[in-house]
Amino acid sequence: MALTQLATNEPKEEPPSGRRALFPDATDRQWNDWTWQLRNAAASLETLLKFSGPLSNGEREKFKRVLEKFPAIIPPYYLSIINFDNPRDPVRMQAFPSLEEIDFNVHGVPDPLEEEEDMAVPGLIHRYPDRVLMQITNICPMNCRHCTRKREWEEGKWARTEPEIERMIEYLSQTPEVRDVLISGGDPLILSNAKLEKVLAKLRAISHIEIVRFGTRFPVVLPQRIDEELCALLKHYRPLWVNTHFNHPQEITPEARAACDRLICAGIPMNNQTVLMKGVNDSVAVIKKLCQELVKMGVRPYYLYQCDMVRGTEHFQTDIWKGLEIIEGLRGHTTGFAVPQFVVDAPGGGGKVPLSPNYLLSAGPDYLLLRNYEGLIFKYQTSTNESRNGIVPFPTPSTLAGQKSQRLERRRKRREDNHHVQSQAGSRTASEILHIENS
Ligand code: SF4
Repeated sequence: MALTQLATNEPKEEPPSGRRALFPDATDRQWNDWTWQLRNAAASLETLLKFSGPLSNGEREKFKRVLEKFPAIIPPYYLSIINFDNPRDPVRMQAFPSLEEIDFNVHGVPDPLEEEEDMAVPGLIHRYPDRVLMQITNICPMNCRHCTRKREWEEGKWARTEPEIERMIEYLSQTPEVRDVLISGGDPLILSNAKLEKVLAKLRAISHIEIVRFGTRFPVVLPQRIDEELCALLKHYRPLWVNTHFNHPQEITPEARAACDRLICAGIPMNNQTVLMKGVNDSVAVIKKLCQELVKMGVRPYYLYQCDMVRGTEHFQTDIWKGLEIIEGLRGHTTGFAVPQFVVDAPGGGGKVPLSPNYLLSAGPDYLLLRNYEGLIFKYQTSTNESRNGIVPFPTPSTLAGQKSQRLERRRKRREDNHHVQSQAGSRTASEILHIENS
């Protein structure tokens, strides 16, 4: 009996009190049905204004403009874990539109990572040599206010059609260097199990694809989606990983724990990616508590992201030093694998750059000067330091100007090919598209 309870890790506490106050008529059956949750998500101006507290006429007008530009979707479950007595509640700040979202400053741009530039075929971003990002929908169970792909909310909701999925599969079949496919969002788990299965079966039929990863926020914002049926489906297509996105310990509820446990018990390893956000989680204490809670439920803290320079998220951005300060406060002060890697996504599609506090202070011909987590300095004797010749030297301005990368070369070639196809095929492309749509 005790063993069964431990293995399933089902919630033992009462559901968050917000459920009873906000949705008194919801039955357990409705509450645990993720489709009911989606149908009852707060999205309209009137509903959101009910939760937003007193606003002046000017603020109401601005709130409306924010919503027109960046719509909101908040499922009842996520609403129920907000502390509405706290206007700066960290969960509320991730879900509720802020008037600051349309106070654009000079830094934010719609697509700072230039994902559109690295798109091999529509929906497939091929940036790194051996892995791709497959975007099969732009729909999410919640519109997180800090989202990197906020630009896509203006496109309306879409899911890739079967011909579009076929084009991605065809590209992958013909690109043997790709061994790892990340299916992300929008949130791919918003699609039905039947649609997910079709995609997974096609990917698994490609022999060089070794692993599949899902990027999903469902365990955090709508854990009811992670039911036994979905877990059985994912288990069937292992090796498969799930990367999720908890940003604050308040999001780790009994329901969220149970959802992660179901995945882990199905043999799906889980990682977590946190976005560092001003006012939400920008302190050592919050991130430490979050990471410790994650490892308690078997989810590895993987990345701590610097909030990207995305238009409409500027109010969340911290400076880079804040992230380094947090890592400094974790490394050595808690379990090693509870310390995430702090990363910055380089502008212009440069990819993730890991940043760490500096523990190597200097080096001589046969020694290193090292600093430990307490700030103590040690001389570390080595027989030789000749392997440091293998370290990439600091670039000079001239190497920076002339730097090349396979990735940029691939991008350039793709642009050239596309241009060639368009100018050669002309109207034939249109009829081909018509044929695909009709087939
Ligand atoms: S779930 Fe992910 S992709 Fe969707 S809005 Fe949130 S951060 Fe963006």
